[in-house]
Amino acid sequence: MTIRNRISGQFTLIVASILIGFSLLIYLVSATYRREEFYERLKSKARTTVRFLVEVNEVDRDLLRIIDRNTLTALFDEKVLILNEHNRLVYSSVDDLPVRYRPELLDAVRQHREVETTNGDNELVGILYEANSQRLVVLASAYDRFGQSKLANLRLTLFWGLLGGIFLTIGLGFFFAGQSLQPIGHINRQVQTITARNLRQRLDEGRRQDEIDQLAVNFNGVLQRLEQAFEQQRSFVSHASHELRTPLAALKSEIQLGLRRPLSADHHTEILQNLLTDTDRLIALSNSLLLLARTLENLEAVTMGPIRLDDIIFAAQDELLLVHPNYIVQFQYDQIPETDTETVVLGNESLLTRVVLNLLDNACKYADDHRARVSIGTGPQRVWVSVIDTGIGLSADEQTHIFEPFYRAPGAVRFEGFGIGLAVCHRIMELHNGQISVKSEPKKGSTFTITLPVY
Ligand code: ADP
Repeated sequence: MTIRNRISGQFTLIVASILIGFSLLIYLVSATYRREEFYERLKSKARTTVRFLVEVNEVDRDLLRIIDRNTLTALFDEKVLILNEHNRLVYSSVDDLPVRYRPELLDAVRQHREVETTNGDNELVGILYEANSQRLVVLASAYDRFGQSKLANLRLTLFWGLLGGIFLTIGLGFFFAGQSLQPIGHINRQVQTITARNLRQRLDEGRRQDEIDQLAVNFNGVLQRLEQAFEQQRSFVSHASHELRTPLAALKSEIQLGLRRPLSADHHTEILQNLLTDTDRLIALSNSLLLLARTLENLEAVTMGPIRLDDIIFAAQDELLLVHPNYIVQFQYDQIPETDTETVVLGNESLLTRVVLNLLDNACKYADDHRARVSIGTGPQRVWVSVIDTGIGLSADEQTHIFEPFYRAPGAVRFEGFGIGLAVCHRIMELHNGQISVKSEPKKGSTFTITLPVY
């Protein structure tokens, strides 16, 4: 069932229920009012007749009958009976068609003084009249022809009104539901034209006011992120193949050189040594590429736990010095933590160690003295680690690119590296809801800072 049909169906159901409810109410109120009014008239008729009969002693019963039948207020099929204490008829307004009543009715009238009931289609009232030591029961019955015909008229009007109202509601509901869903249809048609090849396309955001415009805005946001992810993937593949090609070409030329002519044993060893170095470099590169690919993909599933950031620094320092014993790392606290938990963050130990290791490695690598200072500081909400060096530094423009995969500043080309480490660090910090930032000046040095929320 389409949303349009569902909305117009629900709308019709609601309006129809309200209309039916109102119609029933109007009808019931009118019917009750008619009945009550008619009973009042019957009672007044009954009282007038009995008063005539009793108070005007000499009244001629035939005359009374004639008066009864011909008064202006005479009712349709009107009959008035008056009975005495012994249930004997003392007056009847008609000769031929007497009112049929059950004997219990008379008892009920004597008991309750007034009774309202029906007699076939006719309404009937019984009243007790007490005067001059007489207890007379007056029964008056008639058919409310005008009232019933008015009621029948009302029934008909309400029925057709209701039917018309329901059809109108269906039509209007369908029309307005269609109108309000039109923009969704429009969006639908636009979405159908978007494929992996034209992710640049965006949906029409209208005036950015209603919910449907908002949907388009959000969808465009998703498209933008998708486009970025596709772009990242594409650039990763092209950069990765480019990076791999260079060491592979070096390997190939080394091998070709070795095959070209007979070589001395020394020469052989030298070539094998070069091959080993190039292969090591290739392994390091493919490891970095693998890590970058993994971090660019979904790393949300990594296990996180509370860890002390100063322990991470010590672990990274140990790992670095194992590979580069000539590097110097100086550690200090910005302020000595007062409790054990001040430097605790929620994170993945091996990923955070990789970040600090990468920062320390860069700091020592890009500084002639191979020296890095690392400090840790804590605030009410955050913990930060800064890695400071006095190395080659970076210009403001270079600083804006260093977290992009494969970017290397021109001054860094003479140093070993692939331009992958900082991109990985950036992504890992994103996964930890943290930040990484840099302050640097060319030829003076750099300070890289990572900030994480306190656990
Ligand atoms: P790599 O160091 O392997 O080139 P990174 O991703 O770690 O890759 O760094 C990217 C670039 O950022 C480096 O090529 C260099 O230009 C710059 N950079 C990083 N750390 C420093 C630093 N401490 N001092 C100067 N430049 C740096």
